[in-house]
Amino acid sequence: MSRDSGIQRVSATAYRIPTDGPESDGTIRWSATTIVVVEVAAAEAVGIGYTYADASITSFIQTVLAPAVSRCDALATTGIYDTLVHTVRNVGRPGLAAAAISAVDVAVWDLKARLLGVSLISLLGRTRARVAAYGSGGFTSYDDARLREQLGRWVHEDGCNAVKMKVGREPARDPDRVGTARQAIGDDAELFVDANGAYERKQALAFAERVAPLGVTWFEEPVSSDDREGLRLLRDRAPAGMRIAVGEYGYDAFYFRRLLESGACDVLQADATRCGGVTGFLQAAALADAWNVPLSAHTAPSLHTSLCCAVGRAINVEYFYDHARIERMLFDGARQVHDGQLEPDDSRLGLGLELKRRDAARFAA
Ligand SMILES: [Mg+2]
Repeated sequence: MSRDSGIQRVSATAYRIPTDGPESDGTIRWSATTIVVVEVAAAEAVGIGYTYADASITSFIQTVLAPAVSRCDALATTGIYDTLVHTVRNVGRPGLAAAAISAVDVAVWDLKARLLGVSLISLLGRTRARVAAYGSGGFTSYDDARLREQLGRWVHEDGCNAVKMKVGREPARDPDRVGTARQAIGDDAELFVDANGAYERKQALAFAERVAPLGVTWFEEPVSSDDREGLRLLRDRAPAGMRIAVGEYGYDAFYFRRLLESGACDVLQADATRCGGVTGFLQAAALADAWNVPLSAHTAPSLHTSLCCAVGRAINVEYFYDHARIERMLFDGARQVHDGQLEPDDSRLGLGLELKRRDAARFAA
């Protein structure tokens, strides 16, 4: 078996896709998003994985990671993951190296499912048929009309029972923006806010108290995710019914363990395109289980649909505007929200994604 399923080729290509308008959150601005797509081939099958990261990791994947896993048995996913982690020891694992490992790991899992002739969800084992999606955008660069239109569409047309908006760039304007969003989505949907670490501790607490009457039930990164004591303060003192969510910068299991040990969050967020792919996401899910904390998937909805339907405590997937758009543009089989839910396509092999090469080519970075 191992000779037949030995990895023959690993390739990586970056695509840079301009946003459909200026975008910003509480701490950065951007006008394009780069996705790095990895392909791993064995025995006539090709697995596909991806991460949202800098284009520079394509050469790292091809010159450092690819030789490390060449001829490894594609079915031995855990062993390959361990090899990748050991390979980056001296360059530093968190950040770009972890993003590169994540994309390769996803491609290897996709390849394994294809070699076995099953979907990824069947390979992992299903815990639920579908998972709730929350619409995520509401950028601080949007005017009120655009904010209303985007958030309202997710609730009224796509059936999402929650949406998320960015706050923190102009703190004085935030309560009014949140009020505008609440008006647009009606009384029944949950409203999430994400400060991307823009507030100071007591500023964040004051904001939480101010917007709680507007039905804000989720406050993401109220302070820097590096300030675990500050997050703990917010978790303990935010109004009842408002959850503190954090974890998107988790690049390994140790990071999630530290967050959970600190009591820093009510919801643990994990991003398989950063935290080690399928293998790393399963580790984050196990930690969330052990701490009895709900798990939420950060961005990359076409990947996280399968993963969140295969782990115990997943509560939702972030249907991030930029990534949902890019995945629709680049992948045949990209997941889309129906009735507020995302559902894996069990009739397709692996993740169920095929790169639309001709469409993607014009964005090659
Ligand atoms: Mg966030």
